[in-house]
Amino acid sequence: MTKYVYLFKEGQASMKNLLGGKGANLAEMSSLGLPVPQGFTVTTEACNKYYHDGKVITQDVVDQIFEALAATEKEFGKKFGDSQNPFLVSVRSGARASMPGMMDTILNLGLTDQAVEGLAKLTDNPRFAYDSYRRFIQMFADVVMEIDKANFEHLLEAMKEAKGVHLDTDLDANDLKELVRQFKVKYEELKGEPFPQDPKVQLIDAITAVFRSWDNPRANTYRMLNHIPYEWGTAVNVQGMVFGNMGQDSGTGVAFSRNPATGEDVLYGEYLFNAQGEDVVAGIRTPKPISELKLDNEALYNEFHDISKKLEKHYRDMQDMEFTIEKGKLYMLQTRNGKRTAQAAVKLAIDLVNEGLLTKEEAILKVEPAQLDSLLHPTFDPKALKAAKPVTQGLAASPGAAYGRVVFTAERASELVKQDKLPVVLVRQETSPEDIEGMVVSAGILTARGGMTSHAAVVARGMGTCCVAGAGEVKVNEAGKFFTVNGHKFNEGDYISIDGSTGYVYGEKIATVEATVSGDFATLMQWADEIRVLKVRTNADTPRDAHQAREFGAEGIGLCRTEHMFFEASRIKAIREMIVAKNLVERQAALAKLLPMQREDFVKLYKEMEGYAVTVRYLDPPLHEFVPHTDEEIQELAKEMKLSFEDLKRTIEDLHETNPMLGHRGVRLSVTYPEIAEMQTRAVIEAAIQVTKEGLTVVPEIMIPLVGEVREFNFVKKIVVQTADKLIKESGLDIKYLVGTMIEIPRAAILADEIAKEAEFFSFGTNDLTQMTFGFSRDDAGKFLPDYYKTKIYESDPFAHIDQKGVGKLMKMGVDLGNQTRPNIKTGICGEHGGDPQSVEFCHAIGLDYVSCSPFRVPIARLAAAHAQIKNPRKK
Ligand code: ADP
Ligand code: MG
Ligand code: MG
Repeated sequence: MTKYVYLFKEGQASMKNLLGGKGANLAEMSSLGLPVPQGFTVTTEACNKYYHDGKVITQDVVDQIFEALAATEKEFGKKFGDSQNPFLVSVRSGARASMPGMMDTILNLGLTDQAVEGLAKLTDNPRFAYDSYRRFIQMFADVVMEIDKANFEHLLEAMKEAKGVHLDTDLDANDLKELVRQFKVKYEELKGEPFPQDPKVQLIDAITAVFRSWDNPRANTYRMLNHIPYEWGTAVNVQGMVFGNMGQDSGTGVAFSRNPATGEDVLYGEYLFNAQGEDVVAGIRTPKPISELKLDNEALYNEFHDISKKLEKHYRDMQDMEFTIEKGKLYMLQTRNGKRTAQAAVKLAIDLVNEGLLTKEEAILKVEPAQLDSLLHPTFDPKALKAAKPVTQGLAASPGAAYGRVVFTAERASELVKQDKLPVVLVRQETSPEDIEGMVVSAGILTARGGMTSHAAVVARGMGTCCVAGAGEVKVNEAGKFFTVNGHKFNEGDYISIDGSTGYVYGEKIATVEATVSGDFATLMQWADEIRVLKVRTNADTPRDAHQAREFGAEGIGLCRTEHMFFEASRIKAIREMIVAKNLVERQAALAKLLPMQREDFVKLYKEMEGYAVTVRYLDPPLHEFVPHTDEEIQELAKEMKLSFEDLKRTIEDLHETNPMLGHRGVRLSVTYPEIAEMQTRAVIEAAIQVTKEGLTVVPEIMIPLVGEVREFNFVKKIVVQTADKLIKESGLDIKYLVGTMIEIPRAAILADEIAKEAEFFSFGTNDLTQMTFGFSRDDAGKFLPDYYKTKIYESDPFAHIDQKGVGKLMKMGVDLGNQTRPNIKTGICGEHGGDPQSVEFCHAIGLDYVSCSPFRVPIARLAAAHAQIKNPRKK
């Protein structure tokens, strides 16, 4: 027979999967000899069984529950449902990972009309007995029966008003007795049946409600965001009650063993006298800081402080604890490793190593790589933020905080910043490539339209500029130079502030603080670098990005998207000319304009990278992103090219593609127009020659995009090699370069052995590889992926985290096949996944040499790579 119920005495911390976090830790504290009210845990397996059996708790499990209850009653010397000496319990949910959104705790379960009388007599404290009963009725109604607790709170408020008192602690026994009566009437009115008077029914109903809450929408959303599998299930803890509401010598509180915001080593928390459960956090009465407990009752404070240090040592981590004091005696009700800010996480990791509690490896695993993000961008000064109130919320599209004067066009942004160097926030309906220059100079970007993968969001993330996108309540009036939102109006020049980590927009100036990698943070990164084997490069298209990435520790450029080098007004015309060129002569003319721009950029990139590898991806412009759209733009370009408007418009219409993402782009362009590859090779090699002459060593890595067939790769490679070798020979210098390819088309992964005969390196372009493997586009997936999450077909966004099962299989195949024909072929990843911690761990596991990610994710990837090596060591 399967054991579905464990007494706290029978469990321990290592049984977390079965007992849930709360249950396992209650068992562990109990075995450490700490004062824990006894009880038992109904396992996560029982939860899964409940769903498997059609949402019922079967009799065998019910039997085990009452057997454990009988054993617990004995410990307390009380009896469940007894009219003289009733045993009361709490029912508490507890999944493996702490999960907000799950069912709230029910306290004082077991009280009935009879039992409450007994409790009043026994304790000689009717006030306490009725206080407990009214709390129980409300919690049971709210949590188990889903009756809105406002129904009861209104009655409580009315009672306080009638009595002319402010706090519920000022109500006396008779008031509370009357409230209980009213609560029961209300319950029956809303439920159509009386409040249950059989404690056994109360208990099974409550346990069922916990299981049910595992599948409620709040819990499902939280699970999805945090990658918690549905199969885990939740456990339920049933625990004997101790009472913090027995008078002034009783109370309840919560505390961290250290400050969770800063990591400082001081007890940090709050408590309330004569209170129960959630009173501390409910905000009705103002709790006292835990430091005052020392004045109120020094012995108790010392006991609690000792326990907190004992638990820290035992768990070797900062603890988040809940406790209750019943008539001067301390009880521990919960402990767990405390959640902490990134700043505290870093400090704790370093401190715990220095205190000898953790090894460096263990300490590194305590810091979540994704958490570092908040240390890498400016944030609002907490003091300044306190007084501020958001005017609206959009999508948290690119993290960081900024304030600045509102501007509505890229030109105006550049003008204003040039004038007085004061920050601006660019506010647009949505952005397009022409806005780039304005985006670069802006402190932040706010758009009214567009999602997480809109132009504004993608470009802002790449630049590390904060961005709030798709703030639908913002009504932009570009012509009138103002925008309105929820009744507020902002003119050009007015200050606003935006937080790209939360999506909030504020109608005022809020001071920010800058990010640097220094102090404990720098120490942690240094430890990570000593451990990891996976190299971390950056995706950088501009010298500015490259510089930032070096500051954050990037070891080279894994992807320079050359078409992005033309994302600015003064340059975009040249690439447009190339695209609309009707013949070789026109194209050569356009390419001649592009060549010096590229060469100049490459020189700067090589220099920023100080000899580290620079991977240059040849042009891959999806046509729809580059072709001019408006008549105005066409007119302008026609003038530049000395063509008629109609002529150019017709050319553009001819270029129209039904599906540009699968169109004439990438390597296909160079197959049709070899002169493009020739020009780019010139730029790459001439720049290399120039910096070599200045004494730097560079090995450019030339990367051909969108290859699916070795012969198409070879066609371009031949042009590259001919052009490069000739230039190098003429220079008389010894310059090495590599020619490799992106693996971003499934066919390339499948035929990687053939491609590796010619390609000297592979870089997995997992954005396109994901689109083409799934057969849906990143830009459209937002419309239907939510339904896939709801129906649990997919559990996470394949564009954010590598789909290890499908796309990952292709990657592994690509690596293995590549190695067959070219042993130790250099491999990397340059899709956005390169900065996603769980994807980084996957890349480590399949043996890639490096990951490449946007500059602001470089430290995250460095830490994730260290995590990967610690969990799954690979030969150095
Ligand atoms: P959450 O997971 O939301 O923190 P808990 O199950 O920890 O919920 O319960 C919340 C609070 O209820 C506890 O911090 C404690 O104050 C109170 N509580 C729970 N069980 C008991 C108990 N057996 N005796 C006294 N108070 C309890
Ligand atoms: Mg708790
Ligand atoms: Mg691509």
